[in-house]
Amino acid sequence: MPAAGTAPFQGAVVDGVRVELPFQHPQAPEPFGRLWTPHRMVYIGGQDKPKDASVSQCPFCAAPGRADEEALVVHRGESAYVLMNLYPYNTGHLLVCPYRHFPDWTQATVQERAEIGVLTARAMEVVRHVAHPHGFNLGMNQGEVAGAGISAHLHQHVVPRWTGDANFMPLIGRTKPVPQLLGEQRELLAQAWDQAPSSSH
Ligand SMILES: [Zn+2]
Repeated sequence: MPAAGTAPFQGAVVDGVRVELPFQHPQAPEPFGRLWTPHRMVYIGGQDKPKDASVSQCPFCAAPGRADEEALVVHRGESAYVLMNLYPYNTGHLLVCPYRHFPDWTQATVQERAEIGVLTARAMEVVRHVAHPHGFNLGMNQGEVAGAGISAHLHQHVVPRWTGDANFMPLIGRTKPVPQLLGEQRELLAQAWDQAPSSSH
């Protein structure tokens, strides 16, 4: 907690959870080495909180029907696809979603379970190739109580982490918003998806 008299809270509400960290580490290598303020993305629109759990309200059902650049889709698989999170916990934060609208991991078919696993591993390889993170958080929030912002449509988070990225908060207040950076990241990741070395056999 900041001491009295210091800067006010500068974090973001991400997936319904108030997030004060982490952000891009200042020493993270290019091309993600720019300062930016992801919490400003709430003004850009897109993955807005649905009014209800229906397909018509669901941004993860709508995204595949839009252009990759517009919906920030990085890769399209058979039963699942990969897109940038509009409200990232960190730069390069990807989501792996089934095309099918369902909330719970136990409802996934064998193919969906397998492909979401394969795409998650590939997303890690691609982000490693492009941005050299030191680690990752992987995970699915099951239900709103668990922190899922869009709980009606399953999605797996792939969040790159850099050593010390949680200590970047004090600098955020002085950074300039760069919303188009998500589009630039998508471009880099989509290219790397087909080109980055793979460890699968
Ligand atoms: Zn959906």
